[in-house]
Amino acid sequence: MAAEIIDGKAFAAALRDKVAEAARAFEKQAGRKAGLAVVLVGDDAASQVYVASKGKATVAAGMESFEHRLPADTTQEALEAVVRQLNADPAVDGILVQLPLPAHLDDKAVIALIDPDKDVDGLTDTNIARLANQQDGLFPCTPFGCMMLLEDRLGDLSGQSAVVLGRSQLVGRPMAQLLVNANATVTIAHSRTRDLPSVVRGADIVIAAVGRPEMVRGDWIKPGATVIDVGINRLDPAPGAAKGRLVGDVAFDEASAVAGAITPVPGGVGPMTIAVLLRNTLVAAHRHESLAVPA
Ligand code: NDP
Repeated sequence: MAAEIIDGKAFAAALRDKVAEAARAFEKQAGRKAGLAVVLVGDDAASQVYVASKGKATVAAGMESFEHRLPADTTQEALEAVVRQLNADPAVDGILVQLPLPAHLDDKAVIALIDPDKDVDGLTDTNIARLANQQDGLFPCTPFGCMMLLEDRLGDLSGQSAVVLGRSQLVGRPMAQLLVNANATVTIAHSRTRDLPSVVRGADIVIAAVGRPEMVRGDWIKPGATVIDVGINRLDPAPGAAKGRLVGDVAFDEASAVAGAITPVPGGVGPMTIAVLLRNTLVAAHRHESLAVPA
């Protein structure tokens, strides 16, 4: 039987509506809009697109969007001064520094400067520790969005066996931590893992975040498993086509013949990331004003 398709686009749209409603209530209570500042350095084309769509989504959710576009030759000092200014600005609840930064800049030093209570990407050491210690914090948007999709489909994840493919700071590691916190039994696999197919075959939940087009094959999947494909990979264009097709890290047609449920690419995890960013900003705004965080 073909797998159920997990519609991340619809889920994200519903989440954005919920955030917009809560943003209106916040504005009434606080006497101001919640605010998200995005800092972009340089002219990387993909980053420009991401920043523009984050700004649009922020405004559409009834929040204030502050964009800081700095030239590619910005110095470390100038960038750090912008982050300090945003930390001090009472109108700013969330700060996001768009990565990657140009090579001459030290991204770790910049992230370390962000006020952890405004760190809506969940990348500061403080928020990493809060996640590990199961305290309230702000956690990375993409894995948090994956958790929402998983819990929506499976409910309580206690005792489920999960394999996370990938161990990046942005996706794999926080994903594994969120799953452990939800009482799943978690294996983290990476490029040094031996016999990946048999590791994956043992899992009720598979999260693929490796950045390798269609690497996870159908015969790696345990029948009935839930598969969350984080990968976004553009294939080379077919002859005559301007753009190549977008595919995930999972061979979708093969895997969907075996899995119980699966996210498509595009339209699965991708749309969740911005929706969770808006949600994180709203949560930060409520904490900032000492208001109860809406459910
Ligand atoms: P990274 O490149 O930072 O990490 C990739 C991870 O995959 C590493 O841990 C690496 O292992 C592991 N890996 C690479 N090749 C293999 C292999 N052959 N076998 C097993 N493990 C392997 O990527 P990200 O975590 O940032 O992103 C992963 C994917 O998710 C990308 O396609 C990216 O575009 C996508 N993405 C999607 C988002 C969304 O909004 N949907 C947001 C963020 C990312 P090792 O550590 O050993 O090198």
